[in-house]
Amino acid sequence: MIDLRSDTVTKPDDVMREAASTATVGDDVYGEDPTVNDLEARAAELVGTEAALYVPSGTMGNQIAARVHTERGQEVLADRKSHVVKYELGGLAQHADLQVRMLETERGVPSPDQIAGEYVAEDLHRPGTGLLCLENTHNARGGLAIAPEKIAAAADAARERDVPVHLDGARLFNAATALTVPASELTDPVDSVMFCLSKGLGAPVGSMLAGSEDFVERARRTRKLLGGGMRQAGIIAAPGLQALENVSDLETDHEHARLLADGLAEISGFDVQEPETNIVLVDVAGTGLETEAVLERLEERDVLATPFGPTTIRFCTHRDASREHIQTALETVKNTFEAV
Ligand SMILES: *Cc1c(COP(=O)(O)O)cnc(C)c1O
Repeated sequence: MIDLRSDTVTKPDDVMREAASTATVGDDVYGEDPTVNDLEARAAELVGTEAALYVPSGTMGNQIAARVHTERGQEVLADRKSHVVKYELGGLAQHADLQVRMLETERGVPSPDQIAGEYVAEDLHRPGTGLLCLENTHNARGGLAIAPEKIAAAADAARERDVPVHLDGARLFNAATALTVPASELTDPVDSVMFCLSKGLGAPVGSMLAGSEDFVERARRTRKLLGGGMRQAGIIAAPGLQALENVSDLETDHEHARLLADGLAEISGFDVQEPETNIVLVDVAGTGLETEAVLERLEERDVLATPFGPTTIRFCTHRDASREHIQTALETVKNTFEAV
């Protein structure tokens, strides 16, 4: 089976398993797990913040950030297709008592004019805008790498109005790699950032939530509230530390995505979006088939991808899919659809 559904399917390698088995641990709820403490320090250093917090998932990281930055009933500004809006079970409402003002944006980033226009000042009748949430890379828009100037322009427009900014950087290092900038250039303009260890970086579990010391102290309490306080978490934090060594491998995933996209584009009826990182979106409407029918045919031939709309499929490259795997997958898709 060649599994290109997601970069979350990567399994811990031998280095990670070894790190887990030899990790020094303690009770992290008491702040006594040296491995977690190392991971948090290293993560903060990488994204240029004062502090960072290890959280069980990216979703929890985003939800904690939303709750810490805001007050009940406030509005969040977010792109219509952002992960916090589409894929977190309405958590902004459930965990942070927020309502979302969804924006139709270009490339997933609200412009400064849009932010100025959609901002709501608090008064007797209006709840006020409490947060701007950005995403990089932008998953649902096809792994777009958002340039630092765009992030900074949006963040500045929010912060001028005293609105804090959270960056959902689940694939932050894919963005930094594609744009050839240090990750900190993408995070400097924002108040908090979440990034996943468990996606392209290959860790079995976990994400990091980073920001100022004050923010992280409050985030730690909220993590406990949500049931995310973990005890001898060094066992899973140790592979997380190893995952931070894998940043430089992401470029290979991006090369593989380009290889895949170029090949898929040769198939008639496949409309392929040019990949910027490790995600390839394909609109299969031209085949006359819907997503599920296409995915079924591929699965019969041992290739997996993800449904992303009635006629849209997402392929995601990752460190457990080699160049040979990508070539085999490509041959399979070509054979399957030339036969239609
Ligand atoms: C995967 C993802 C998340 C959530 O991460 P989980 O660890 O799966 O909860 C958040 N935002 C984006 C953009 C993602 O792609």
